[in-house]
Amino acid sequence: MSALSPSLTHELIQAAYFIAALLFIVGLKRMSSPKGARGGIVWAGVGMLIASLITFLWPGMRNDILILVAIFIGGVAAWWSGKRVSMTAMPQMVALYNGMGGGAAAAIACQELVRGRPIAGAPAVLAVTGAIIGAVSFSGSLIAFAKLQGLIGKSLRYGAQQAVNSVMLLATLALGGWIVALHGAAPLWMVSAFFALALLVGILITLPIGGADMPVVISLYNACTGLAVAFEGFVLANAAMIIAGMVVGAAGTLLTQLMAKAMNRSLANVLFSNFGEVSVQGEEVSGALKPIDTPDAAVMLAYAQKVIVVPGYGMAVAQAQHKIWELCQLLIDRGVTVRFAIHPVAGRMPGHMNVLLAEAGVPYDLIGDLEEINGEFETADVALIIGANDVVNPVARTDKSSPIYGMPILNADRAKNVIVIKRGKGAGFSGIENALFYLDNTRMLYGDAQKAGAELIQAVKALD
Ligand code: NDP
Repeated sequence: MSALSPSLTHELIQAAYFIAALLFIVGLKRMSSPKGARGGIVWAGVGMLIASLITFLWPGMRNDILILVAIFIGGVAAWWSGKRVSMTAMPQMVALYNGMGGGAAAAIACQELVRGRPIAGAPAVLAVTGAIIGAVSFSGSLIAFAKLQGLIGKSLRYGAQQAVNSVMLLATLALGGWIVALHGAAPLWMVSAFFALALLVGILITLPIGGADMPVVISLYNACTGLAVAFEGFVLANAAMIIAGMVVGAAGTLLTQLMAKAMNRSLANVLFSNFGEVSVQGEEVSGALKPIDTPDAAVMLAYAQKVIVVPGYGMAVAQAQHKIWELCQLLIDRGVTVRFAIHPVAGRMPGHMNVLLAEAGVPYDLIGDLEEINGEFETADVALIIGANDVVNPVARTDKSSPIYGMPILNADRAKNVIVIKRGKGAGFSGIENALFYLDNTRMLYGDAQKAGAELIQAVKALD
């Protein structure tokens, strides 16, 4: 389709892929800070646009219209769903998109294996390996989506589950090995059975994992998808796919490690422990919850010298970030020092709280990460906890029998006073009691975070 000479076309394509790869890397780098994140997404998006458009110059490219129609349908669906999705539903959205990436890598492998062209040696091994990883990521991500969306309820568990899953995986690997040995002449039934088995493995290994652990699993599948895309990039000799796949694979792996570390759990524990669905309670927490009413809470906040706000999943659910920031602005106007403390796994996905606070307009210099701000709680007059629970539970430091023992937490209990906004006695993600709520210096302000925020604003204003 190109009017350029073949060698020039080739040079042009490689140059475009190089630029696209650079844009992916710079984009990812920018995404590592809230300030640059939006720009980073645009940089990486431009890279993807360049890589997609230049593909039309490939010699022997066919079915242009079909491809354009597919891009249009996919683009409109992604635009529409991206606009509509709420922040709390973002993990399942990521699962869905990530699954598509794995599925695309598997589809490329499928095409290479059934087109009847000889394929042997390293390309055959890479195609088959990428196919397994891509197919498992695809079906596994769809199960993760269904769980987070509430379409699948309790996790499926039975006796010899791990053994059955291992046998299925071994059967898939054996069939894959056989396909490699046939050098591209594998019959259609064999390739079909291979993909069916790989898809089944993805479903079977994801079904027993508790819905609460899904964000970590999604991140793991994200890393796998990157790897599958990179493998298929080698098969197609496509530099952009190799680099983009490697970048996604490396970023996904680091993110998975970061999340597991922030929960003080091994990946094996995430994948096999059924966390959050088995009742492991730890030591009993004694004492009574002491409520506070809005006017009293407003006085405590307004006359404090320093307030540290700890947002959690409940703030995200209530979409209370705007009200909370409005409240904080009133406090700042009164001369109160206000800071926000963000735990790495506050909410239901990495960066959840940072994104919400940025959306509300909270300046970045008021926000501190766990290591940065933990030493400051001793100097705070009030720690204002908004819909956070596990990330401030002090039993993580003390109770070895607790499922969250060892998880680094925000030291909110060391503040002079603690006000907790939550609706009632609901547990957090881990399902355990929070010893912080029973401390002498803690007061519970019951209510939906958004409503409580609005009432506090009125109460602080009424103090003038
Ligand atoms: P939690 O899930 O521990 O607690 C949230 C609390 O918010 C609940 O106790 C609930 O209590 C309250 N809540 C719910 N809705 C509202 C509302 N509308 N208004 C006010 N309060 C509300 O949240 P954290 O952020 O403290 O901890 C996150 C947990 O998620 C951690 O255990 C972490 O390991 C886990 N996790 C995080 C991931 C991540 O990447 N961020 C990934 C995987 C897991 P009540 O019902 O009484 O209102």
